[in-house]
Amino acid sequence: MSSNVSLDPADWSAVRGQGHRMLDDLFDHLQGLRAQPVWREPPAAARQGFREALPLAPSALEQVHETFLENVLPYSSGNAHPGFMGWVQGGGTVVGMLAEMLAGGMNSNLGGRDHMPLEVEQQVLAWTRQMFGFPDTASGLFLTGASQANFLATLVARMRVLGGGGRTAGLGEARLTAYASRAVHGCVGRALDMSGIGSLQLRAVPVDDHHRIDLATLRAAIAADRQAGCTPFLIVGTAGTVDIGGIDDLAGLADIAADEDVHFHVDGALAALGVLAPSLAPRLAGIERADSIAFDWHKWGQTPYDAGFLLVRDGELHRRTFASDAAYLQRAARGLAGGDWWPCDYGPDLSRSFRALKTWFTLKTYGTAALGAVIEHTCALARELADRIAAEPELELAAPVQLNIVCFRYRGPDAPAADADALNAEIVAELQAGGDVAPSLTRIDGRTVIRAAIVNHRTDRRDIEALVASTLSAGRQCTRRRAA
Ligand SMILES: *Cc1c(COP(=O)(O)O)cnc(C)c1O
Repeated sequence: MSSNVSLDPADWSAVRGQGHRMLDDLFDHLQGLRAQPVWREPPAAARQGFREALPLAPSALEQVHETFLENVLPYSSGNAHPGFMGWVQGGGTVVGMLAEMLAGGMNSNLGGRDHMPLEVEQQVLAWTRQMFGFPDTASGLFLTGASQANFLATLVARMRVLGGGGRTAGLGEARLTAYASRAVHGCVGRALDMSGIGSLQLRAVPVDDHHRIDLATLRAAIAADRQAGCTPFLIVGTAGTVDIGGIDDLAGLADIAADEDVHFHVDGALAALGVLAPSLAPRLAGIERADSIAFDWHKWGQTPYDAGFLLVRDGELHRRTFASDAAYLQRAARGLAGGDWWPCDYGPDLSRSFRALKTWFTLKTYGTAALGAVIEHTCALARELADRIAAEPELELAAPVQLNIVCFRYRGPDAPAADADALNAEIVAELQAGGDVAPSLTRIDGRTVIRAAIVNHRTDRRDIEALVASTLSAGRQCTRRRAA
């Protein structure tokens, strides 16, 4: 039997050369992004060429990398590209990529124990507290994304109202109710579902035309539920609704939560980082009074996927929601099992990657002023796009532009087409296949609309021009095709 099963290279200098080539390829890829299509459908040959049986035998790294270059890299979903405007996705940066490489090399596990990577996560946590005006006793941690952060916040709110019995005995007779606007992200309903409280216990409160929650109806809904013997336990405000970028009156929600003594959580996946932009921060007033905030560094924060974050005002409540006393997680006064901050006490994950490093590098290397400037620039581009749409008789805005999201329709040169929903869906499919710009679809007031979410720091005026021009030409072409 061979005595050497190590997976380290036999020839370090060869792997070093290959590694440098791999890094160079990625620099070339990012430098040349604009010349590539945003997206192209993976051809059957690429999929076929990729599928194979479980590899028993080794392959040369060079060859495996070649397969990646041929069959994977050219067929990404395109969110790094400046023309990507579909959904709300960040573009990532060169710095983030390099930091991911460093984190990969370290292969740290950030569940707990005594090591410097945890200090990096704590530093980002401290900066996050400062950004949102939270006290030093607030806790927080990296998670995959805001979906997960909203879920954990629901459990923290449940702990607040039911105490430890909620963890051990479950809900019992308690009928907990939560409140959010109709425009809330679907993951909040799912958080109630996954927590055993039930998605029907989320009351969908009406919104105004800016998709802001109606505060009077919210108060009335809470009163009615109390009357009916329910226990209101959670109000979720949204900072940046996913459809049109609406921001709830967060100060108004904080007042109601205080009056009612319920947990006030903010889903700030999209726009909480607006606190870094001087022109946006005032519109988030009240966020500093939240009991918890979920947000994503991987959207407006430009950090590569994935980098969600949860911040909780009452750090001790947060710890009691998740901490357990398993023997193999015993803490020691000295040695590697020391350290007084173990993230596994603050969430369901025991093994955790070093997401903090790419975020720390992003914040340190660019500085928050530059990130704030990117955020403001995406909003300025959205306003510019809205102006262009207003000036084009064949296009119409479908919702007020509040942040970096523009919803609009192709209406045609004459009266709006009877089947405008299908027409606009066809236009978006054309645009995505065309490769210059990739918006997505959503539904507003029962109508299918084209949605451009400008999140990526690489997007500029050229992409706005391209979106307008390609929408017009695709609209005319689709209309002609339908008439024929
Ligand atoms: C993107 C988004 C989410 C989900 O966040 P993930 O990071 O994708 O899990 C939740 N809420 C809003 C408002 C979002 O924009």
